[in-house]
Amino acid sequence: MKTLSIKRFIFFIVLFLLLTTYINPALIVNAESSKNDFNILVVSSYNPSSEWEAFVIEGVKRKLDTDKNINVSYEFLDVRTIYDETYLKSLSDLLNLKYSKSSINAILTIDDEAFSFARSNLFNAESIFFKKPIVFTGVNKSIHFSTEESYYIRGVSEVEDNTALINMILNIHKNLEVINIILDNATYSTVVRNNLIDIEKFFSYPIKLNFIQSSFIEDISNELALNTTPNQVSLIIGDFKYKTTEFICPLTETINQIESTNPYPIYTKSQPYLFAGAVGGITDWGQQQGLVVGEMLLRLSKNEDIKTIIPTYDTLEQTVFNYKMVRKYGINPLLLPEDSIFINKGSFDFLLPTYLLILLWISILAIISLVILLIYKVIHHKHNSKKNKILYIEAQKAEKMKTEFISNVSHELRTPLNIILSTCKLLNLKIKHATLDTDYLKDKLGSIEQNSNRLLRLVNNILDVTRIEAGFMTTYFKMQNIVEVVEDTILSVVDFAKTHNIEIIFDTEYEEILTAIDKLKLERALLNLLSNAIKFTSSEGVVDIYIKTENSNVIISVKDTGIGIPEEYLPFIFERFKQVDSSFTRENEGSGLGLSIVKGIVELHNGTIAVASTIDVGSTFTITIPICIIDKEIPKYAIENSDLSQIVNLELSDIQ
Ligand code: ADP
Repeated sequence: MKTLSIKRFIFFIVLFLLLTTYINPALIVNAESSKNDFNILVVSSYNPSSEWEAFVIEGVKRKLDTDKNINVSYEFLDVRTIYDETYLKSLSDLLNLKYSKSSINAILTIDDEAFSFARSNLFNAESIFFKKPIVFTGVNKSIHFSTEESYYIRGVSEVEDNTALINMILNIHKNLEVINIILDNATYSTVVRNNLIDIEKFFSYPIKLNFIQSSFIEDISNELALNTTPNQVSLIIGDFKYKTTEFICPLTETINQIESTNPYPIYTKSQPYLFAGAVGGITDWGQQQGLVVGEMLLRLSKNEDIKTIIPTYDTLEQTVFNYKMVRKYGINPLLLPEDSIFINKGSFDFLLPTYLLILLWISILAIISLVILLIYKVIHHKHNSKKNKILYIEAQKAEKMKTEFISNVSHELRTPLNIILSTCKLLNLKIKHATLDTDYLKDKLGSIEQNSNRLLRLVNNILDVTRIEAGFMTTYFKMQNIVEVVEDTILSVVDFAKTHNIEIIFDTEYEEILTAIDKLKLERALLNLLSNAIKFTSSEGVVDIYIKTENSNVIISVKDTGIGIPEEYLPFIFERFKQVDSSFTRENEGSGLGLSIVKGIVELHNGTIAVASTIDVGSTFTITIPICIIDKEIPKYAIENSDLSQIVNLELSDIQ
C-alpha cells in the first residue's frame, strides 16, 4: 500500500511539471535564456568615428565587461549621410533580415534619431525591435510616452537648460556683446536653439545671441566673418561637413577654421570639442551617460523587469575647461566655477591668474635659488675648512722641518768650527812654547782646510736647495761623452775610498754615449751618490757603478754593500733635510740636503732618480737621463771646467 502511494506521488509530480512547462511558454523562454547569453543591440545615430557616442560606448563597455555572458552588437544609422523615410524603411528591413536568427534581449539607442527609429518599430510585429526593452541616451527632445510604451522604454532624459552655461560665459567675459551660437542641422542643435531663445530673458545681463546654423563649415566661417566686434565668444554644437566633398570636417579643423576668422574663445556643449581646442563648457560627459545606461542594461541582463527601473531625469553634465586654452585666452581661472574639471592640465599648472602665476613662479625660483645658495655656502665652507686644515697641517710640517733643519745645521756648523778653533788654539800654544814643527803644522792646517770645506759645502748645499726650489738654478748644457764624465768622477774618489778600504768597480756597456748635460752639476750629483755610498759602507765593502742605455735613456746605477735604508724611509729619502738617523749621536755627518739636490739636478736633465735598498745588504741609486742631442756649439752661457778636485774635496769633506 505504501509503495503504491509513493509511486503515485512521483507520477503526479512528473505530470505536473510536464503540464506546467507546456502551458506556460514564458517558463520555457526563461529556462532557455538562463542557458543562453544576454544579447544587446546598440543602435547609434551617427557613425563609429562620432566621438561623443564613442565615449558613451566606452562607459557602457566598462559597466558590461564585468559580465562575461553579455554580448553586444553595434549598428550605426549614419543619419548625417542620409536620413529619410525610404532609407529608414530599407534599414529596418535589412536589420530584420540580419538579426532574424538571433535573439535580441535589449536595445540601447544613442542620440535622438536612433531612439526615434527603435521607438517607431516597438510595436511592429515584423521588426526585431518588437516589444524589446529599449534603453536610450542622448535624447534631447522632451518626450512623452504612452502607457504601453512606458512598459518597454527607459533611459536618461536630458533636461535641456543652458542658463547656467550662458551665465558662466557672461561671468568670465565681463564686457561681452555677442555670443555666436554655431549649430549644425541635427535635432539636438535645434533643441539647443529653441532652449536658448526660451531662456534669453533669464541671462544675468542682456546679450546678443548670433545664431549661425548650417551643415557646412564654409557657411559657418562666412557668417562668422561678418561679426567684427572684439567683445565676442562662440558656442559650438554639432558636426560640420565640407561643401565640396560632403565629408565631415574633423573637430580640430573646425576649431582652427573658426579661430582663423574669429580669434576669440570658443565654448561648447560637446565633450569632443574640448579635446579639439575649445576653451570649455558645460558638456554631457559621454562616459558618465554610458555608465548609467550600462547599469540599466546590466539589471535587465539579470532578468529584472524594465518596469522596475526608474528613469533618470538628469543632464549628467560636467563643467570642463581645457587648461591650455584658458591660458591662451588669458582667462582668469578664479572666475571659473569651483566644481570645474580640467583637461590638459599638468600637476604644476596652477589655477591662478597670470600675474599671480608669475609671482608664484618667481617666489618658487627665489626659494630654490636660496636653497641652492645655502647648500653651496655649506659645501664651500666645509671645503674651505678642509683646505685650511690641510694648509695648517702642511704649515706645521714645514715648521717642524725648519726646526729640524736649524738644529741639524747648527750641529753641522758647530762641529767643524770647534775643530778649527781648537786646532788654532793648539797651534798658538805650540808657537808660544816654540815646539811647533813643520809636519805638525801641515797636519793641523790640513784639518783646518777639511773642516772649512765642510762648512763651505754646507753653505753651498743650502744655497743650491734654495735655488732649485725657487727655479733659479742656471744650467749650462753641452754635448758630452757622459761615460767619460762618470769615469772621471769615479777616478777622483778611488784613492779616498781605498783609505776606507772600500773597493770601487766601474763597468759600462759603451765607451762613448754622447748627450747634452750640465757637466758640473752632474759631477756634483754623482759625487754626492758616491760619497753617500762610501759614507754608509763599512770597510771591505764594494761600490759598483754601471752605465747602460735603454729606450734612448742613459742609465747610471750606483750600488753599494752598505747599511741599507729602512723601507719606511724610502718614499721620503729625496725630500729636503731627510736623514734616516737624525740623532746628534749619529756616526756620520750630513745635513740631509744632498739627495734632494741630486734629485733637483737629475730633473734639470729631464731625468728621474730611484732607490732600492735592503737593510744590511746595500742600496742602489739609479739615475735615468734621456739622451738629448743639441747643437755642437758650446751654449752661450756655458762655463768651462771648474776644478773637479776642488769639488771632490768639498763633497767628501763630511766623511771622517
Ligand atoms: P746627507 O748630506 O745627510 O748625507 P743626503 O740627502 O745625501 O744627506 O742623505 C740623506 C740620508 O739618506 C742620509 O742621512 C742617510 O741616512 C740616507 N742615505 C743616503 N744614501 C745612503 C746609502 N748609500 N746608504 C745608506 N743610507 C743612505
